[in-house]
Amino acid sequence: MTFATLGLIEPLLRSLETLGYQTPTPVQAQAIPAVLAGRDLMAAAQTGTGKTAGFALPLLQLLAMEGPKVAANSVRALILVPTRELAEQVHEAVRQYAENLPLRTYAVYGGVSINPQMMKLRSGVDLLVATPGRLLDLFRQNALKFNQLQTLVLDEADRMLDLGFSEELANIYRALPKKRQTLLFSATFSDDIRLLAGQMLNDPLSIEVSPRNVAANTVKQWIVTVDKKRKPELFVHLMRKGKWKQVLVFAKTRNGVDALVEKLQGLGINADGIHGDKPQATRQRALDRFKASEVQILVATDVAARGLDIEDLPLVVNFDLPIVAEDYIHRIGRTGRAGSTGEAISLVCADEVNLLSAIEMLTRQTLKRQNEPDFEPEHRVPDTDASGQVIKKPKKPKKPKASGGGGKRNLGKWVDSGEVAPAEPSIKPVRKVPVFNTGPRKRKP
Ligand code: AMP
Repeated sequence: MTFATLGLIEPLLRSLETLGYQTPTPVQAQAIPAVLAGRDLMAAAQTGTGKTAGFALPLLQLLAMEGPKVAANSVRALILVPTRELAEQVHEAVRQYAENLPLRTYAVYGGVSINPQMMKLRSGVDLLVATPGRLLDLFRQNALKFNQLQTLVLDEADRMLDLGFSEELANIYRALPKKRQTLLFSATFSDDIRLLAGQMLNDPLSIEVSPRNVAANTVKQWIVTVDKKRKPELFVHLMRKGKWKQVLVFAKTRNGVDALVEKLQGLGINADGIHGDKPQATRQRALDRFKASEVQILVATDVAARGLDIEDLPLVVNFDLPIVAEDYIHRIGRTGRAGSTGEAISLVCADEVNLLSAIEMLTRQTLKRQNEPDFEPEHRVPDTDASGQVIKKPKKPKKPKASGGGGKRNLGKWVDSGEVAPAEPSIKPVRKVPVFNTGPRKRKP
């Protein structure tokens, strides 16, 4: 199969040739003809599957082939994404694909001045990539009208809900024309996403290119158990032992990112960090330097790392496990992309056993444990498995006090070695799903 057989027009084929894309990926093979035919789409596709081209190519073709010229302050296609980094990345891809088409494309996101964005929108934009908050600001300030909008794409929809954008999505939805094409992409398909899809999509075609919620199988995944306080030391040890060259590291908090970067830099290691407290320009610079291999270790929070596309990243390290199990899939999706193999190592301490269990349950696998001599934890990480159970080892009964005494002895509650302790509930983010006003909607002719 080729891109030409999928029905793409010559100017797009030329761009793809320049980019060296020869064969459509599975998500592209399914999405491109469906979008060209005007269908709504609900696609379960992880990052790294080529999903961006899957929606952007047919979208650009429809914009180039049909519809009116874009009016002032108007937009004809809108791609909503959860973060600034992803907005930049998606727009960069769109720009490359649209190289030979007479279309105006642009990206807007928060954290930077709104005025240049308002100026740019004055003459209208065919395709706009946007984060929800900034898009609403622009709309409320009358810098943007949606009456020409023909297609809406929700990219990484699960992440938008995780980040609490449900209100914004509901408000945007209310402002959009009812007659439009809607494409929803999500790495994972929780019940909340299915509910959202039910409200926003019209007779969608479902595409699932990887088994539901299963992590990329091109990534070798394993964990090392360690005491929390020794994680930095273990990281440096593994880095030196494995002669790691370029590593993306995930930490749970902004402080955690800063502390690890400081520690690494103190040891003369070329490290930098990105998180939401840093200005956009600083984040972009750190990312660019990492991509150019000028920075060896990039430490990031989940939000900041969202959408990073770094070719051939060999290794991802989870310095902390993610609070939301689905983020594990996003994190390891940074490696093993487009057919290459990758490795994902997680440093896990006893506190994180429930997070580990939730990840194993979600990805339906028991992560291989590899002990590192001299780093065996004092606080043992209980065994876990893909059933979501945390297997507690029996506590040793306390020895009776030598003094004896006639009082009652409490032997404590302990489980038999064959018995499995009940799993504690995994931590689930509280998500609000917007309630949309879903009147009957006509599909695009
Ligand atoms: P995505 O899943 O959209 O983030 O894409 C992952 C990476 O695969 C990006 O670097 C794309 O440029 C690349 N890519 C997408 N489609 C193809 C293709 N058909 N052939 C080669 N590379 C591709």
